[in-house]
Amino acid sequence: MKSFSQQLQESLTDRQSQGLYRHRKTTTTAQDTEIEVNGKLLINFCGNDYLGLANHPEVLSACKQGVDLYGVGSGASHLVVGHSHAHQALEEELADFTGRSRVLLFSSGYIANVGVLTALANKKDCVFEDKLNHASLLDGGLFSGAVFKRYPHLDIAKLADALKKKQKSENTFIVSDGVFSMDGDCAKLPRLIDVAKNYNSQLMLDDAHGFGVLGRSGGGLVEHYQNSGHIINEQNLPILVGTLGKSFGTQGAFIAGSEELIESLIQYCRPYIYTTAMSPAIAEASRTSLKLIQKENWRREKLQTLIKSFRTRCKALGFTLTNSMTPIQGLLFGDAHKSLKASQILEKDNIFVTAIRPPTVPQGTARLRITFSANHTQDQLDLLITALEKVQPLISEEASNVAG
Ligand SMILES: *Cc1c(COP(=O)(O)O)cnc(C)c1O
Repeated sequence: MKSFSQQLQESLTDRQSQGLYRHRKTTTTAQDTEIEVNGKLLINFCGNDYLGLANHPEVLSACKQGVDLYGVGSGASHLVVGHSHAHQALEEELADFTGRSRVLLFSSGYIANVGVLTALANKKDCVFEDKLNHASLLDGGLFSGAVFKRYPHLDIAKLADALKKKQKSENTFIVSDGVFSMDGDCAKLPRLIDVAKNYNSQLMLDDAHGFGVLGRSGGGLVEHYQNSGHIINEQNLPILVGTLGKSFGTQGAFIAGSEELIESLIQYCRPYIYTTAMSPAIAEASRTSLKLIQKENWRREKLQTLIKSFRTRCKALGFTLTNSMTPIQGLLFGDAHKSLKASQILEKDNIFVTAIRPPTVPQGTARLRITFSANHTQDQLDLLITALEKVQPLISEEASNVAG
């Protein structure tokens, strides 16, 4: 019999030989466009701090004032004595921002998604999810015990087919990322709303990467579609999720929805009830981020300029990019070893981009995931493109392999 530690070792060795082994890198500076990683200064193209708020002086100062007022830890869960005025104010401000009756804060997006799905769905229900949804949504659907179905990425016709054929169930949920976290492409929200209406389903949208970045005042994919005349509200999109760890530059997440939805979560959502509330100082920092998100349009405009220029130049170099208008840009290699090699070549030029490999993305779609921040300069973009020219031969090799 193999010992347990031998079993673990074999599976680790196996992972290594597939080019899928993951290592953590240690940073020693603040999250910014330049960052010290393992003692070396690199230009950072892999963070999710899209608006450059994680190290913004006003956000830092709000956090420090929060610490002075409330201390560091919240000391308890929200239902005991951990729910401060800072949390309450942030919830109310996020409700205004999203145009929803109420908002509930969570200490992470992963927990929010697992919490909501396990609280709302059970084995008499059906959950339909886009194949490329974030792991937390897929896990939530699975953990809920509901009949769980995944539809091909963005394929609304297939989703409608599946809904038509579904067995009798009490409630049906349709669950999708707003902006997909590895491809940067977007859900076809108006069509999801139509299908949900036709099949009497509850729609849940997780717009972790859309808030702050899309929509005229950073209201995400919902505002993006509202700006072009679509009517989207609490009735046709009852469960809206956002996170604070991306554009907000802080930490945590929120669910926005009706009075009844939020009250039900407070009563029944175990991952909400049985965990310590986020630090009140983080809530204060997030309140300041929210003000900057709504006020400072130039951050979104700057991002769009960087994204357009990056895409034009990559296409000229013959790269294949994911279909994305967002700061998440996937540069496809297909092969896991090659994407890893590409990221190592870039690192020699002091460019920090992570290779994303299965199981995070489907087999055969390993890639570099390049992300932009409003704080990136044109010079930094130029350096990225120059470095990418050096990994270009890896692509040609791959292409000729496929052709041969
Ligand atoms: C990052 C992310 C999450 C998880 O949020 P955390 O606060 O990091 O736990 C959930 N959903 C999506 C779509 C994400 O991109």
